Amino acid sequence: MDREYVLASYARDYTNFIRGEGARLYDERGKEYIDFASGIGVSSVGHAHPKLVQALCDQASKLIHISNLQVIEPQARLAKRLVELSGYDMRCFFGNSGAEANEAALKIARKYGETRFETKRYKVITLKHSFHGRTITTVKATGQKEMHKSDFSPYPAGFDYVESIDAVYDAIDDETVAVMIELVQGEGGVQPFDKNEVQELAKMLRSRGLLLIVDEVQTGVYRTGEFLASQLYEIKPDVITLAKGLGGGVPIGVAMTRLKEIFRPGDHGSTFGGNYLSTRAGLTVLEILQAEQERGALAERIEHFSRYLSRLAESLPEFFTEAVGLGLMRGLRCVDAETQGRILKAAFAEGLILLKAGRNTVRFLPPLVISREEIDEGFVRLEKALESLS
Ligand SMILES: *Cc1c(COP(=O)(O)O)cnc(C)c1O
Repeated sequence: MDREYVLASYARDYTNFIRGEGARLYDERGKEYIDFASGIGVSSVGHAHPKLVQALCDQASKLIHISNLQVIEPQARLAKRLVELSGYDMRCFFGNSGAEANEAALKIARKYGETRFETKRYKVITLKHSFHGRTITTVKATGQKEMHKSDFSPYPAGFDYVESIDAVYDAIDDETVAVMIELVQGEGGVQPFDKNEVQELAKMLRSRGLLLIVDEVQTGVYRTGEFLASQLYEIKPDVITLAKGLGGGVPIGVAMTRLKEIFRPGDHGSTFGGNYLSTRAGLTVLEILQAEQERGALAERIEHFSRYLSRLAESLPEFFTEAVGLGLMRGLRCVDAETQGRILKAAFAEGLILLKAGRNTVRFLPPLVISREEIDEGFVRLEKALESLS
């Protein structure tokens, strides 16, 4: 049915998953898998978390949706929580995905560039290995040239790309309004930037009145161990975007900005954005994850997970060159693309779900609530998979 009726935009695997619990998934044949992928960094509280299930059922039985023409209580509450947890003086706009969050961030930057300078500024600088989404605009914001397929041209103007952060300085011209970066490039290979370099960039941009947009669609919501990677880097961005892990699987995206007055009624909108169901999900996910972080459980998991990865990177040079990443956003760089592909396949056969990322990286984005036992079992399966390959 999928092949017959769904457009073929994904290179799909046809394992039919029917149920999940914690970091475990089960297919229709009853085979059990350890989930080190969380979708793609989405199932932050694992599968079928009782608190999230309860909150969603409760909310669905009351109100799923009205419209953004009325106030939506859980949306306001979630905005307040996001601002409180960030420690930044900001306001939020709600959409339904990472691309939409970034789209909102770009509109904020465009309006700022239109209204705050003597002459129009509209260009946004992004990085070569970045990933910012799949809409026509966010795919153009993505710095990977091979993503700008001519099939979908023309693309909107206004993006410049640089190889590295130190190349940003020379790329700024009198039409530049913002720089958009991920602090750890996810799709680009789980590649963290240097903290000092990012802090210097933030300082320079602030001194010139230009905006720093941090795409935390993948790094946000405790993925790196802190609520935001921006907190780990000790910077104060002008705009932050969130999505993936925030709804625990319910679609949601947010652009948060310190430009609290930038939008007037009519400037931007979304039919579904921030509805009762998704914002109630967000509130519940934050409640669960904040408690996990405060009692030190998240830090312990990160420790435990990291030890396995460093050990594998050190002991198996025939497969891996290094361990990369932060928090529970990790990667093992493989010697080549073929090795990366073989490892993913062998792991899946052993019942372990991993992801790929750029720079020949095997990527790990386990649920943030994964148990010690699930981590251990996952690595037993990975070691078996690697043995089967040597
Ligand atoms: C996944 C991702 C996006 C796109 O999110 P969608 O929900 O697929 O639109 C944007 N930026 C980053 C950093 C991402 O990881």
